[in-house]
Amino acid sequence: MYVVVIMQEVSIETVDPFTYDVIIAGSGAGGLLTALALSAEGRRVLIVEKAARLGGVWHGYWVDGYRVDQGLHVITRVTRGAFTRFMKTYLPQPPEFILHDGWHFRVHDRVGTIPTSIGQTLRWPLTGMRGRLGLAKIGAKIKTMKLEEMKKYKDITFLEFMRRNNALHQPMLDVMQSAIFMAAGVGVDEASAYEALRTLKDTDKETPKLTTIRNLLFGSSEYDEGYVIGGMERLVKQVVDTIQGDYVLNTPVEAITERNGQVDGLTAGGTTLHHDCIISNIPLWSMPKIIRSDDPHTRDFFERWSHMRVTRGVTLWLGLDEVVIGDRKSRVLVHPTPNRWIVSISSFDPSCAPPGKELVGVAMIAMDGKSLEEQVEIMKTHGFEKYYRDVLDHIEMEHAQMSYATRAALVPGQTDLDRPGPRTPIKGLYIVGTDTAGAGVGLQQAANSAEGVVGALRQDNRI
Ligand SMILES: Cc1cc2nc3c(=O)[nH]c(=O)nc-3n(C[C@H](O)[C@H](O)[C@H](O)COP(=O)(O)OP(=O)(O)OC[C@H]3O[C@@H](n4cnc5c(N)ncnc54)[C@H](O)[C@@H]3O)c2cc1C
Repeated sequence: MYVVVIMQEVSIETVDPFTYDVIIAGSGAGGLLTALALSAEGRRVLIVEKAARLGGVWHGYWVDGYRVDQGLHVITRVTRGAFTRFMKTYLPQPPEFILHDGWHFRVHDRVGTIPTSIGQTLRWPLTGMRGRLGLAKIGAKIKTMKLEEMKKYKDITFLEFMRRNNALHQPMLDVMQSAIFMAAGVGVDEASAYEALRTLKDTDKETPKLTTIRNLLFGSSEYDEGYVIGGMERLVKQVVDTIQGDYVLNTPVEAITERNGQVDGLTAGGTTLHHDCIISNIPLWSMPKIIRSDDPHTRDFFERWSHMRVTRGVTLWLGLDEVVIGDRKSRVLVHPTPNRWIVSISSFDPSCAPPGKELVGVAMIAMDGKSLEEQVEIMKTHGFEKYYRDVLDHIEMEHAQMSYATRAALVPGQTDLDRPGPRTPIKGLYIVGTDTAGAGVGLQQAANSAEGVVGALRQDNRI
């Protein structure tokens, strides 16, 4: 049974830290999902957040009658995986996800989906027969590869892997680029081959041989991506309303202090709160400035992660005065480049747009050295004006955002096999977030990392 006590905002000066079982620094998806799980275990948490609201990059808001999310949140694996497990286990009313209706890749004037069987690959419209044969060969190799073998490629890029396999057919690489960017936060020339291969195989666990053969012959329909009814705004509110405890806003954590190998407390807004159990959801790259420790081993641990490769993306929200796209396909404009993802969000959840209107999200990898305005201009040209003229003709609301989706890129040396996991060298100090641990990207990765922290707390007899 759930006892719902809505979290309260409190002020740091008035807080008694000993009335909480755990203090969580930072309230991104990793911090909130951990707090959600701890609440279900009957624990009270205090969240200390530097921003003016909870959620980190996980939130939604309204612009001129349209409800936009921070980012194009078509959540991967809405029927399986850690995030869905969290929603089903811990929320009194799990959210409703509406599944997408498949992929739609455009390479100039040709359109195709992800071929999932050998037969579909040999009919793939985005390339000629030579390209199809090459794709069938490398596709079969990837789909039948064991996870253990994939790990061997963690320190080379996916492009290097393809080069070694003599599979550098450009349209094939271009289409793979889209999937790999979503998984790794960078393109094929930088992403770790291990992470890219796992995404293309679309699994975290070994598939039985018979299933692999059946999928190769007949294809599989496992790309369960979807959008949540109510958007991120409602989802984050539901999570926050289920957490037991309190929160402090507008108060950056300035220091987390170690004493004799054990966490002693944190300092925020000039107030020090002593506690022996702290979970940090602060990006790992900021931690060296925050950790106060005399132990060189501890300082090295945090220093190592201060050089993470931070990802960046641009999302452009377009409110249209009538329904133009009107379907739930995940579209990718592959060529002309740059790759852009185009999704009609109101086709999943009409409540995000006024009646009879449409909300379309367009996303791309941020381009170095260009302003947000220049990037928006690039998003709306380079083929967009040719293939989505109708969209441009009906814009009544335009809103652009720049943000990281998943904090750190999955590049050689920073794959989830390299990440530190939930524990730190300081006893009682745990770390959570999309750069700390866990397979997958975005909310899946945040949920995976939260699961890791909860497991570590249990092992350490703290819950
Ligand atoms: C563009 C975009 C698209 C996305 N698309 C998808 C998608 O399709 N599918 C999917 O699953 N996920 C998606 N997500 C990803 C998902 O929302 C994020 O990966 C996830 O929310 C990040 O969680 P995190 O725990 O790493 O926390 P973060 O959001 O990084 O939160 C960290 C928190 O710590 C706080 N903080 C930092 N420093 C301090 C300090 N000193 N003191 C106190 N607090 C501090 C920050 O203010 C923040 O609240 C998308 C996100 C964006 C922005």
